[in-house]
Amino acid sequence: MVNVQKRVLVVGGGLVGSLFSVMLGRLGYTVDLFEKRPDMRTTVIPAGRSINLALAERGIRALRMAGVFDQVEPLLIPMRGRMLHPLNGPLELSSYGQRPHEVINSVSRGELNLRMLAEADKAPNVRLRFNTECTAVDIERRLATFVDHVSGEAFTVEYDVLLGTDGANSVVRDAVVTSGGGTWRTDWLDHDYKELTIPPGPDASYLIEKNALHIWPRHGYMLIALPNLGGSFTVTLFLMKEGLPSFAELTTPEAVNKFFSEQFPDASALIPSLAEEFFGNPTGVLGTVRCTKWTNGRDALLLGDAAHAIVPFHGQGMNAGFEDCGVLFELLGEHGDDWPAVMTKFEQMRIDNGNAIADMALENYVTMRDSVLDPIFQLKKELGFELERRFPDRFIPRYSMIMFHSIPYATSKLRGEIQEEILNTLIGNRNDLSQIDDQLAERLILERLSPIEPGFVSNQ
Ligand SMILES: Cc1cc2nc3c(=O)[nH]c(=O)nc-3n(C[C@H](O)[C@H](O)[C@H](O)COP(=O)(O)OP(=O)(O)OC[C@H]3O[C@@H](n4cnc5c(N)ncnc54)[C@H](O)[C@@H]3O)c2cc1C
Repeated sequence: MVNVQKRVLVVGGGLVGSLFSVMLGRLGYTVDLFEKRPDMRTTVIPAGRSINLALAERGIRALRMAGVFDQVEPLLIPMRGRMLHPLNGPLELSSYGQRPHEVINSVSRGELNLRMLAEADKAPNVRLRFNTECTAVDIERRLATFVDHVSGEAFTVEYDVLLGTDGANSVVRDAVVTSGGGTWRTDWLDHDYKELTIPPGPDASYLIEKNALHIWPRHGYMLIALPNLGGSFTVTLFLMKEGLPSFAELTTPEAVNKFFSEQFPDASALIPSLAEEFFGNPTGVLGTVRCTKWTNGRDALLLGDAAHAIVPFHGQGMNAGFEDCGVLFELLGEHGDDWPAVMTKFEQMRIDNGNAIADMALENYVTMRDSVLDPIFQLKKELGFELERRFPDRFIPRYSMIMFHSIPYATSKLRGEIQEEILNTLIGNRNDLSQIDDQLAERLILERLSPIEPGFVSNQ
């Protein structure tokens, strides 16, 4: 344990703030975590940004570092691949990886958050306070202002170290970024989302394949479904705000029912409260937050969505935020209580990676809603698996680098671009793996892809 003196103020007790508070507690820091919502351990509150999420290797690695993975593991439902629901034609399972442990895991956001808050609360040096919303930060005076939603009172808190984990609409962000001499922006997507439910069948059975992430790709838009414990699925429609088809034109129960029964007939038959949920549930917006600075280099730092909110199509927002926690935890181990050094190093290590996963998440929307239907996509995927089997230390498909390993995002993006060129060269206009030139494959891989650093590769 490092010799720690500092009082750390954590603003936001969502997924990232709660996990990092567990880590800080273990390091012996005096931590005050302030969360604007009520305590989810005693109040039923809406899940917020999504009901369930895909947890992958990077997130699991950080949960293990914090010593909480054992509590989380029973909540996980492995998803082995994409179950594609074409408009016409049979269902098709397209596996994500090629080894048994290469799965992603559906997990309830609320349950995950709740377990990490409970774990943070066990440490005597970590204090949690709910119903308190941060309204302003004075970086120069190291003061944060809060409003207590129960009493209505405003109060200020002094800190030595400020961590902004208050999510995509962060209040802390502007003060931290501008005091570091940086700028930030949010790029909004022109597609929104809506969550719906496929309820369980008899005896909590699953009415569609349990161990898969279901996708109804429809080129310009899509529906997806992830399993929950207890037999239900959370279904999400991603669709343009305006245009044809769009949320703007789905204004009546008749329009919604018609759209679903024409475009997603099998799903529509499994969502009994379709129109009720459609008009009862909020429509969510999606955006990418890019900051040129995440710290003032002294005593204030952003983590998770506050620093780098991304669109959800790679299932990596939380995983990236958890990876932030792991990297910061290791840096505190290396540099002790020297926060300026830790924060500066952290920013250097993470900003390019944040931008890389933001770009790949945007690209993956097109993959999910469109490319998965293309036979060339499937051929490239199979060739990618074959090359991974033959050159495991050099060629790992990009999806696998992101989801099953901890190869830095920026490196994965760069290697992914080279790999895509190699796949395109090898496939040319061939339509069968048996026609691939093996010697050319070997030459291109040895020439263009250096061995991957083994520390980033997970062998489970
Ligand atoms: C539809 C959808 C699907 C997603 N699916 C996945 C997925 O499959 N896999 C994945 O890895 N990621 C996914 N994500 C992304 C993931 O939800 C986020 O990356 C993750 O929640 C970020 O965690 P966070 O703690 O940084 O922010 P949040 O989870 O947003 O937590 C922020 C917390 O701060 C609190 N807060 C906010 N403002 C204040 C304030 N002023 N004062 C005090 N408290 C405050 C909030 O109440 C909240 O509890 C998805 C996102 C969406 C929208």
